[in-house]
Amino acid sequence: MNKEKIILVIDQMAVTMEKQKEFLTELDNVIGDGDHGINMARGFSEVIKKRDSLAKMDAGDMIKNLGMILVSTVGGASGPLYGTAFMKAGMFLKGKEEVTFPDFLEAFACAIDGVMARGKAAEGEKTMLDAMLPAKRAMEQEWTISGDGKKSMEEGLTAARKGIEYTKTIIATKGRAAYLGERSIGHQDPGATSFVFLLEAIASQM
Ligand code: ADP
Ligand code: MG
Ligand code: MG
Repeated sequence: MNKEKIILVIDQMAVTMEKQKEFLTELDNVIGDGDHGINMARGFSEVIKKRDSLAKMDAGDMIKNLGMILVSTVGGASGPLYGTAFMKAGMFLKGKEEVTFPDFLEAFACAIDGVMARGKAAEGEKTMLDAMLPAKRAMEQEWTISGDGKKSMEEGLTAARKGIEYTKTIIATKGRAAYLGERSIGHQDPGATSFVFLLEAIASQM
């Protein structure tokens, strides 16, 4: 994926966050404080304001700076968490003008490590990680088998969507939803859901 495509991914992320703002906020209303959609849409609208300067950077700096914008403009857990994810991915991609699928997989692994460290969370705690980690495993597996990036992304999306379904079955032990304990069962995690929308934005340019 070249830089022009990455900018189109960023545009698409902003469009989808605006489009899904109410849906994500409704999900967060049920098990959180009802601001996840607002947080994500605000963060990406700030990113779009810096679009021209981002477009001049290499792929790594572009993604790292996107993360810094999210950290500095989004209140709530998701700003620092997604912000860290993009910053770590961008640092891994430092100096690159083009991102291959193996680059993407490694950057994604760095992003996940960043979220886990920052959020002190693991799989099975009803967070965005429950969509991210299965997606990573599915993409790596398909890439090993077929070497087909598009197909790997599709497998990743399928796994991430299953991850959303899985979050309905478990108790939240991290973030605001943890206050609900068992009452969080039956409801999908907003962050896992927004992650699928972001991954769809990446897939749309492949
Ligand atoms: P806040 O909960 O501060 O209002 P948001 O509503 O924007 O922030 O984001 C909530 C989402 O953040 C959750 O749905 C969950 O996916 C994610 N999240 C919360 N805490 C953690 C954590 N410690 N580790 C990973 N993800 C988390
Ligand atoms: Mg919230
Ligand atoms: Mg909040």
